Amino acid sequence: MDIASVSFAAYLVAALLFILALAGLAKHESARLGNMFGIAGMTVALAATIALALDNDPSGLGIGLMVGAIVIGALIGLQRAKVVEMTGMPELIALLHSFVGAAAVLVGWNAYLHAEHKGDDSEQVLILKAQDMLGIHSAEVFIGVFVGAVTLTGSIVAYLKLSAKMKSAPLMLPGKNLINLGSLALFVVLTVWFVIDPQLWLIIVVTLLALALGWHLVASIGGGDMPVVVSMLNSYSGWAAAASGFLLGNNLLIITGALVGSSGAFLSYVMCKAMNRSFISVIAGGFGIEAGPAEDKDYGEHREINAEGVAEMLSGASSVIITPGYGMAVAQAQYGVAQLTSKLREKGVEVRFGIHPVAGRLPGHMNVLLAEAKVPYDVVLEMDEINDDFADTDVVLVIGANDTVNPAASEDPSSPIAGMPVLTVWEAKNVVVFKRSMASGYAGVQNPLFFRENSAMLFGDAKDRVEDILRAL
Ligand code: NDP
Repeated sequence: MDIASVSFAAYLVAALLFILALAGLAKHESARLGNMFGIAGMTVALAATIALALDNDPSGLGIGLMVGAIVIGALIGLQRAKVVEMTGMPELIALLHSFVGAAAVLVGWNAYLHAEHKGDDSEQVLILKAQDMLGIHSAEVFIGVFVGAVTLTGSIVAYLKLSAKMKSAPLMLPGKNLINLGSLALFVVLTVWFVIDPQLWLIIVVTLLALALGWHLVASIGGGDMPVVVSMLNSYSGWAAAASGFLLGNNLLIITGALVGSSGAFLSYVMCKAMNRSFISVIAGGFGIEAGPAEDKDYGEHREINAEGVAEMLSGASSVIITPGYGMAVAQAQYGVAQLTSKLREKGVEVRFGIHPVAGRLPGHMNVLLAEAKVPYDVVLEMDEINDDFADTDVVLVIGANDTVNPAASEDPSSPIAGMPVLTVWEAKNVVVFKRSMASGYAGVQNPLFFRENSAMLFGDAKDRVEDILRAL
């Protein structure tokens, strides 16, 4: 049996399974099936790769190294996955993207050192020349290293920002747009030069240039735009993997990389639309965004309420909307919230959820938490589906959300989050805000909602307060 042909056929099957996985993951109801397709695809891909490695290297050294790497990686991955909190997922994902970037840089360097660097009469170069592929190989190396290095440092900065190890405010270097555009232009010039004359110093320069550009691109983006950055880096990591696929001659890596690259790009686009941001401006490192850091304004006094007061308010309500945010995830309040929902529904109160597209710290973060707590899907509505209904609502419970319910986004053109569509909770008769203090949200912007006449603050951990309300009910 020709192992190589069977493996290539298996790669094709795996690629189809990955496409089915993406299709399945697009809907709640089919997400589990989608995951199954993904797991099946990965199993087929791994089996084919191991068979191919064994066929290429009967001594078993290659496969030994590969199994060793898989075991070490799997052990570290399992340990990290076990300890990571749901709220720590975005930073873990950002860190994982940086590994894809690092791998692409290493694959690029390796390909260069094995071919071009060995000189014009080395075996690999002669083969590439015979196939008329030397220039293409050099371009693949250069582009792969560039995309990989941008992904590497960009993801590290995203990790630092998401884990609050670095300030989320945008870095505003003078002439930042010029720096980005200049770096891109320099990259194009260097690529042409490298294809004509593949010298070592050129690949060193492009690696350093891309590392600096990746750092600068993501550092220049403000907190409010971070969701788009995470999905954009996801996309970059896909393209980096696809570039490695070309260099390694691995079709599956090319297809998988392209799937991740294009779905990540599409997600970034959808999120930009949802947040009323220009796609180009965000992928170009905040190009054209001139909003400065948030300024402190005096909005007056806020009003406080206790759990009993909220229970009383809820008992007299006929319609309630719950808008959860990052704080619900931190407090793990979703189970209490689910109980509160069913208790109110039993009493005949209409309870619905309003989910902002970037609530929490991951796309779909709130949907996952609510599904975990078995809140029925049909009462969980997207922002666009529910925004017109706030005016006819008796009580809105804002549970650990802040930026996503900030009226400044629609009312204050000087706000750093100006233009971002938000849940218009303040239109309801009463708003109760669950949080621990008057601190700002992820974007670092004050929230005038807290000082409105129809708003009241319920201070404390969201889970404890929800349980207090349940007891009082
Ligand atoms: P925010 O981050 O704006 O606010 C969360 C609020 O929760 C805080 O004000 C905090 O206030 C409160 N909180 C934290 N812990 C608790 C707790 N234990 N109990 C009660 N309250 C708590 O959240 P939103 O969901 O409204 O907005 C998401 C933000 O994150 C947006 O700016 C978005 O751009 C950004 N982002 C989103 C990503 C995504 O993909 N969804 C990815 C990256 C960033 P206090 O400390 O006073 O308790």
